[in-house]
Amino acid sequence: LEKIGVLTSGGDAPGMNAAIRAVTRAAIAKKLKVVGIRHGYQGMIDGDFVPLRARDVSGILHRGGTVLKTARSAEFRTEEGREKAYQNLKKEGIDACVVIGGDGSFTGALVFSQDYDIPFVGIPGTIDNDMYGTDYTIGYDTALNTVVEAVDKIRHTAASHDRIFFIEVMGREAGLLALSSGIAVGAEAILIPEAKRLEIELDQFLKKGYKEKDRSGIVIVAEGGETGRVIKIAKAVEENYPNLDVRVSILGHIQRGGKPSARDRIAATKMGVAAVEALLDDQKSIMIALVKNFAIDHVPFKKAVKLNHAIDEDLVQIQSLINI
Ligand code: ATP
Repeated sequence: LEKIGVLTSGGDAPGMNAAIRAVTRAAIAKKLKVVGIRHGYQGMIDGDFVPLRARDVSGILHRGGTVLKTARSAEFRTEEGREKAYQNLKKEGIDACVVIGGDGSFTGALVFSQDYDIPFVGIPGTIDNDMYGTDYTIGYDTALNTVVEAVDKIRHTAASHDRIFFIEVMGREAGLLALSSGIAVGAEAILIPEAKRLEIELDQFLKKGYKEKDRSGIVIVAEGGETGRVIKIAKAVEENYPNLDVRVSILGHIQRGGKPSARDRIAATKMGVAAVEALLDDQKSIMIALVKNFAIDHVPFKKAVKLNHAIDEDLVQIQSLINI
């Protein structure tokens, strides 16, 4: 192994830069050369490469987004696209890659590895924290803190006007961000795709508790693959309870941005170093994972992309229990 490529792919997440930096510095410390591949898999196809030296990744640790840029590449889904990518990697002398992204990015790496002999190791980067096999994905902690800060502010208006706010939180098929932020803000109800029974609890809450005067409410709704789902839910509540002062807020892309939290920076740094070590250890098609108190683990891409991350049942139960 002499030269590795590093790329970010799919949706951006805070902490990706910290991972790029860690991969670059760890590789250089181990006498490898590093090339940054810009714009995800599309950059492989276009030969959009930049050499990375130790100092090139200075001053990025604390910045959100990804300095290498990211993209969704339709061309990489085609055989021709992947052939072009391979030729470019060969020409550049890249003999292994670290890809920072979500399950789509790991599926892409897996498909590529079926035809070509360039090993890939993945680092999970997504605010959803929905990857199977790892307790943690880069960006989750920052996003969680962003949501909590935003909802705390909305709570001021809710309380001052005795309003009930339905707030949509990101998470395509995964409700962990919604569930955790809901617990952290003391939401009156949390609606996530994985626990339908919480919807019944919302009904009960509205029937029983909300008649009292001087009460405001926060209901956190996971986007669940359909941005704007919250509008439908709020409308239905408004129709059934015409006396309520209902409002909707969709937090949107502020959840993806911002300075990475300390926890995200540390996770990214740990996983970045582990990814380089795994490549040097002749590993391929695996995702670096953090399990049980932030210990490194390796999970085959095949497993990571096929299975779903289970929702934290403890948190669901806690929400049911204390919401009286
Ligand atoms: P996020 O969770 O933030 O959406 P992701 O990594 O899942 O991140 P995707 O857009 O699903 O994001 O995937 C990133 C890229 O991986 C795609 O744009 C595509 O280039 C590549 N990819 C995904 N699936 C495949 C596949 N089956 N074959 C080849 N390439 C793929």
